[in-house]
Amino acid sequence: MSKEFDVVVIGAGPGGYIAAIRAAQLGKTVACIEKWKNPAGALKLGGTCLNVGCIPSKALLASSEEFENASHHLADHGISVENVQVDISKMMSRKDGIVEKMTKGIEFLFRKNKITWLKGHGKFTGKTDAGVQIEVSGEGTDGASSEVVTAKNVIIATGSKARHLPGIPVDNKLIADNEGALSFDTAPKKLAVIGAGVIGLELGSVWRRLGADVTVLEALPEFLGAADQALSKEAAKQFKKQGLDIHVGVKVGEVKTSENGVTIAYTDKDGNAQTLEADRLIVSVGRVPNTDNLGLESIGLKANERGFIDVDDHCATAVPNVYAIGDVVRGPMLAHKAEDEGVMVAEVIDGQKPHIDYNCVPWVIYTEPEIAWVGKTEQQLKAEGREIKTGQFPFMANGRALGINKADGFVKMIADAKTDELLGVHIISANASDLIAEAVVAMEFKAASEDIGRICHPHPSLSEVMREAALAVDKRALNM
Ligand code: FAD
Ligand code: NAD
Repeated sequence: MSKEFDVVVIGAGPGGYIAAIRAAQLGKTVACIEKWKNPAGALKLGGTCLNVGCIPSKALLASSEEFENASHHLADHGISVENVQVDISKMMSRKDGIVEKMTKGIEFLFRKNKITWLKGHGKFTGKTDAGVQIEVSGEGTDGASSEVVTAKNVIIATGSKARHLPGIPVDNKLIADNEGALSFDTAPKKLAVIGAGVIGLELGSVWRRLGADVTVLEALPEFLGAADQALSKEAAKQFKKQGLDIHVGVKVGEVKTSENGVTIAYTDKDGNAQTLEADRLIVSVGRVPNTDNLGLESIGLKANERGFIDVDDHCATAVPNVYAIGDVVRGPMLAHKAEDEGVMVAEVIDGQKPHIDYNCVPWVIYTEPEIAWVGKTEQQLKAEGREIKTGQFPFMANGRALGINKADGFVKMIADAKTDELLGVHIISANASDLIAEAVVAMEFKAASEDIGRICHPHPSLSEVMREAALAVDKRALNM
């Protein structure tokens, strides 16, 4: 007889593992199917985010920032450090150690919450009155090569993988996607990046700080088109100053590899043929959902034309008791969005009535300075015909920012012209990832800009710029 569970989650990334924990907290019997193997062949929980995404990239961003500070910025404090050296292999071991700690942490949480980890590939095989049947193959839990489990409810959380381009074969040595780019054994002298999105900017920054000349080729005519134009303009200025060479409006042509490098032919924005020589190439042109070999058709589901699973506002699919969350469904491919959907679906299965306001999902790009926003951009709001007012305040006028030598950037707040309700908050600065949380709270509570302007903020702190930007909406910033 097959094992039966109230909830079976396929995939243990931030969407799946959080859904499993929440369902277990609510008293359900839960299993989570996961097949991820690390380069040493060990099965791991945590998905893209913990193994080859958010966590390792932020570890390398932090290490490379320390190197850059020691090499270039400590002198501003009157501290001289000579002969600063970097040991890439030690930096990689530190990153791998953090990944190991975090993924082991999820194994602990699974044991604590009595969640069964079914090790292997999950694939639907059909549906009966008892529930949905899923075959787990590969490393079966009992040492068997495969087993079939029955689920009253299923949460598909299979995530995404890097999109590759035809004719540009990724070997994760000369040509890398996110996996290879997080594990280079040396800093390339010349690094080319295709795609000036989040990964291109974050990993491009890592390797630039570690010594590479980085050239980024972006197809779209605008840089960081999803961000408010004030932010993208400031970001372009800062990145140029740092030496990131970003070309927009390009069309990438043939890519040739040789023993020691890569040659990329492209047409620039003016239509001129160009060639770029590099030691290594990162391809970061977006990600595609994991819906292949899932047996969706056996339960009457299919992926849409872009490979995603269609769901409603509560992540329910067209098949009763089958839900899908995270990167495999519509919406931004962000770990915290996947987590929130995991919690929501577990609570829906429990009969509760949770809700996610997708307008309040924050975005963060962990460059230096960091870029973060929540809500709508000025351009979106104007296109919608909304009457708005805006306030902007620079970190240059903030004592704490000057003290920590991070005075670049600003906060921009956008509020409704009549009601003063906050509609969007856009930050480019040090620690923008932490500062944005205040704006998310404010927007979830439908606060007005005046509310933030009236709240006491600690002095001296970067958060005072949030208050000043809010006051600037009403043209009454105090320190400008
Ligand atoms: P995933 O994390 O992709 O997990 C899906 C899991 O399902 C995988 O472990 C996979 O092995 C498993 N799986 C798939 N199919 C099957 C199957 N049939 N059977 C069994 N198991 C299966 N987001 C942020 O919010 N902040 C960041 O700073 C950030 N940085 C990133 C940096 C990089 C380099 C990358 C690549 C991504 C980053 N992201 C970041 C995005 C974030 O990683 C994803 O949005 C997030 O991991 C999605 O979570 P998920 O649970 O939907 O899927
Ligand atoms: P992305 O969608 O952020 O950026 C891809 C970029 O590549 C786009 O600007 C696109 O116009 C460009 N592009 C596409 N095809 C191209 C081509 N043929 N030639 C040149 N440029 C081309 O994707 P990504 O950077 O690969 O990241 C994938 C996902 O991972 C993103 O959706 C993001 O949400 C997530 N992520 C998030 C974070 C974070 O939250 N800090 C960090 C890394 C990744």
